[in-house]
Amino acid sequence: MKIGVDLGGSHVGVGIVNESGKIVIKKEQDLVINDKGEEEIKQYIRDVIIYNISDVLRTVGSPMCLIEKIGIASPGKVKGNVIKEIYNLNLQEFDLAHDLEEYYGVPVIARNDAKCAGIAEKQYGALKDYSDAVFLCLGTGIGGATFYNGKLIEPKRSEGSEYGHMIIQKDGNPCKCGNKGCFETYCSMKAFKKSVIEKFNLNENVSSKQILEFVLNNIHDTVMENIIDEYVDNLVLGISNIVNIIEPEVICFGGSFVHFKDVFYSKLLNKIDKAQYRFDTPKFVFGKLDNDAGMIGAVCADNI
Ligand SMILES: [Zn+2]
Repeated sequence: MKIGVDLGGSHVGVGIVNESGKIVIKKEQDLVINDKGEEEIKQYIRDVIIYNISDVLRTVGSPMCLIEKIGIASPGKVKGNVIKEIYNLNLQEFDLAHDLEEYYGVPVIARNDAKCAGIAEKQYGALKDYSDAVFLCLGTGIGGATFYNGKLIEPKRSEGSEYGHMIIQKDGNPCKCGNKGCFETYCSMKAFKKSVIEKFNLNENVSSKQILEFVLNNIHDTVMENIIDEYVDNLVLGISNIVNIIEPEVICFGGSFVHFKDVFYSKLLNKIDKAQYRFDTPKFVFGKLDNDAGMIGAVCADNI
């Protein structure tokens, strides 16, 4: 039995993933961090994961000894199976894989969540039939995964494919990575939502679903059109760089961007058609596995 763990900035998901890449059962829990210190947060996350794994096992009536492996999809940088940094949770050097390995006595693999989601789409989803592909995850930040000849590109030293930190504007928006003008400061869904909230004076705590409804209801408003046009212009700029360097057959969009397909897609195709590449325009597809992609990819990571 394989257990996938999806560690997000504000929640944890745990599920049993079967041999066909389907989630048999999953449990999710919001993380309540408040003013906990770093070590306290690490312990709390371990406890939440262990509690939810027990809960999942109890529900299906399986003993713990049937677990064969555990995969963790984590935000931020993961190197040598150690989570190096999660900005949203203010964590560094979190050896969660080692801790769970000791507790369960089975192999535990940790990987960046965008890589996991890309692997899942490559193995079971929208990228299944492609060989040279880029998975571009547009959500709170921008993550990516690159495949050549059907294999995930994995540099020796870390994970690579950090498309979100490709600089598209000199002296541009400050990024959490310390640079300025990074792709994700213009084209993450967080950046898009921030523009809408600011330009229309919306409540900061508005949900993604409410933002989407608001955008669709005001899609012909001039201010909204300008926000969307600017977003898509920057997206095309980033995609053009990716195409010129990687020459993928296909680019697959993942993350919450998928839910905004009706807002962006026709404008994107229109502007992409006018962009200048060194190579043929790739196909564009949307992830099929939605929020489950990270959890699924976390356990099939060594099959690619
Ligand atoms: Zn950056």
